[in-house]
Amino acid sequence: MYIELKNINKIYPNGFHAVHNFCLEIEKGEFIVFVGPSGCGKSTTLRMIAGLENISSGEFLINGERANEKSPRDREVAMVFQSYALYPQMTVYDNIAFGLTLQGVDEDVIEERVKKTAKILGLTDYLDRLPRALSGGQRQRVAIGRALIRKVGIFLMDEPLSNLDAKQRVTMRGEIAQIHRETGATTIYVTHDQTEAMTLADRIVVMKDGYVQQTGTPYELYFRPANVFVAGFIGEPPMNFAKGKVENGAIAFGDQKVDLTGARQDAAALEGKEIVFGFRPEAVTLEAREKAARIDCRVELTEMLGDNTNVYITCGEQQAILKVDSHDTPETDEALSFYIPWESMYVFDGKTEEAL
Ligand code: ATP
Repeated sequence: MYIELKNINKIYPNGFHAVHNFCLEIEKGEFIVFVGPSGCGKSTTLRMIAGLENISSGEFLINGERANEKSPRDREVAMVFQSYALYPQMTVYDNIAFGLTLQGVDEDVIEERVKKTAKILGLTDYLDRLPRALSGGQRQRVAIGRALIRKVGIFLMDEPLSNLDAKQRVTMRGEIAQIHRETGATTIYVTHDQTEAMTLADRIVVMKDGYVQQTGTPYELYFRPANVFVAGFIGEPPMNFAKGKVENGAIAFGDQKVDLTGARQDAAALEGKEIVFGFRPEAVTLEAREKAARIDCRVELTEMLGDNTNVYITCGEQQAILKVDSHDTPETDEALSFYIPWESMYVFDGKTEEAL
């Protein structure tokens, strides 16, 4: 195993316990994304890996060797930060070359590596420019270039796209994926954006309040969320939830009932239990289908997004969002029936919120 994090904890000097028992094994070449809401401890964890924060307890191994006490320089890591931190008076070439120049690497070697890096990043035509004459996306690429050129083993990125506008973010996201394919560099990437996490990661670590909630592939997190938090965090719009007690094999959904006996072989065991029932907005159909629960609701609002429409509905007090083909956009203030397929029904424990 290339990198191992064993029961890593971070307690800041003021006593705040920011990261609890973080465990993860990373293979060479993997693209790992830490995702979670603001303050969940993802940057702190990344900074402990980088050697910018000390590790309060636990063990951090690189190539099987303890690295807790190693200086950032000796950890084979390069970090790209939120702010690009480019030197404004230096050209793109010099910005990219900077780390190698400091190390006293041969001019010829530097030139060859700058050119190669610039080519990967599409910066060949910009090498003589100053950062102020670049777009946000180009600046971010220079910042990535500066880290890439060092040919380190581990590439760390902390919200590298947060200073870009929405369109640039999508473009740059694709470019980061491309760079990763070309370089094969082991990458740990921090973001609060689940779409970035889903599109970039080989594996995602979802964090909340300093605790890892689930580690898995984008597919696993989407289809087999470990708890209510992950189910609600991954997917856009988020999963719909209804809390209640299972009675006669069914759970109340506002003024309607969803029968769980078809979907769940363990329905009998759920009887009388407090649960959280969930289904994804995109899992429903408006056409009647077998092996599904029918719900009659009222349309409150629709948002046509192009290829699909978000339909905000109510069933009595219960609210939910449905994602339908935009050709099927219903009228507001009208009655609507939809169907939740059995295989798209999720059940979580009402107390622990763990998946059942
Ligand atoms: P964001 O997306 O907002 O950067 P994050 O998930 O990266 O959030 P961290 O920056 O890792 O979160 O912070 C985790 C928690 O630790 C937060 O509650 C933060 O207030 C706290 N924290 C961060 N740095 C310190 C510090 N030096 N001393 C005490 N507490 C800190």
